[in-house]
Amino acid sequence: MSTRTTVGILGGGQLARMLALSGAPLGLRFLVMDTVADACAGQFAPLLVGDYRDEAALAQFAGKVDVATFDFENVPAESAEWLSARAQVFPNPRALAVAQDRLAEKTLFRELDIPVPEFATVASRQDLERALDAVGVPCILKTRRLGYDGKGQFRIRGYGDADAAWEALGAQAATVGLIVEAFVPFERELSVVAVRGRDGEFRTWPLTENWHVDGVLSASLAPARVEPELARRAVEHARSLAQRLDYVGVFALELFCRGGELLANEMAPRVHNSGHWTIEGAQTSQFQNHLRAVLGLPLGDTGAIGHACMLNWIGQMPDAGAVLREAGGHWHDYGKEPRAGRKVGHATLRADAPAALADALERVGRTLGRESQVAPPVAALRGL
Ligand code: AMP
Repeated sequence: MSTRTTVGILGGGQLARMLALSGAPLGLRFLVMDTVADACAGQFAPLLVGDYRDEAALAQFAGKVDVATFDFENVPAESAEWLSARAQVFPNPRALAVAQDRLAEKTLFRELDIPVPEFATVASRQDLERALDAVGVPCILKTRRLGYDGKGQFRIRGYGDADAAWEALGAQAATVGLIVEAFVPFERELSVVAVRGRDGEFRTWPLTENWHVDGVLSASLAPARVEPELARRAVEHARSLAQRLDYVGVFALELFCRGGELLANEMAPRVHNSGHWTIEGAQTSQFQNHLRAVLGLPLGDTGAIGHACMLNWIGQMPDAGAVLREAGGHWHDYGKEPRAGRKVGHATLRADAPAALADALERVGRTLGRESQVAPPVAALRGL
């Protein structure tokens, strides 16, 4: 690595922005490519605006970067392949392709003995009946590709919902494909954020517990309070996945936990929202370690510093004061225009002890009128 090393990032959202911020102390330069001119990483790094399928734009990008990586997993796999013939690309396009398709992903999980909820693919309206019989109800009809943050999903509570589900997503059977998954009445959602270096070194941050609202992450707490045996299994699942995919960089494995059993939901082949707490709550953040991994540098320690809780700001930013007044309060505004459902920022609260973190969360929740957002992590911290 030299101070002239340029890291290219496909996708210019908040993940690219936080990667660029994290890479600045390493003397790195960045080039971000996005389809829109107001991509928020463009406020910190040169931005190339272009379509990911446009070979001229990709060639321009490849010519300027030493290594390329992703902030966005839905970059077409063919574009990643094309790029990898012209530049070093991490993670490799095969890992990206697997993570882009819920069927390929679940099939791989099964091959690796990572338990998954029952599932069946759906090609037509009649097929949906067969899938419902095979999987049972309640279940969720999901697009195989291009779904994120709960988008491209329809909850089927009983057979009577099949028409409405088909009405909502049926048209996408021919384009992105559909899959039915058993609904898991999970007790907790956990994620393993992991990093694998070019030399195969593998590390994980402490497990994170996550709470979603309408399919979108609302709060993350780390380290999650889990039995050591459960944590060991979660880490082994992530390790086997990383090895099989010859993965380089950071990824997240999302897990449902039910009755001591872990079921894999999906993997994200990039830095992940449930790892944002690592910026202030771990020795080395997921962003820093992702850059180190793709550049072949030594990985940093992934240990937690006390206890941290991340709160997502969706739609619009609340007032910063309540968080900034906290001793362990950290504010992240992604510089985006407010828009319903959009992730515009987050806050992380950090403390040395669970009770102190719970107190801080309650103060912030009260001041911002967000008691319901802080309630689940507070309950977990207080052992309720
Ligand atoms: P996904 O886009 O698949 O990560 O789904 C977003 C969120 O929806 C998950 O984090 C869960 O909270 C919920 N969800 C998705 N799939 C299931 C499932 N099979 N059973 C129960 N909840 C689910």
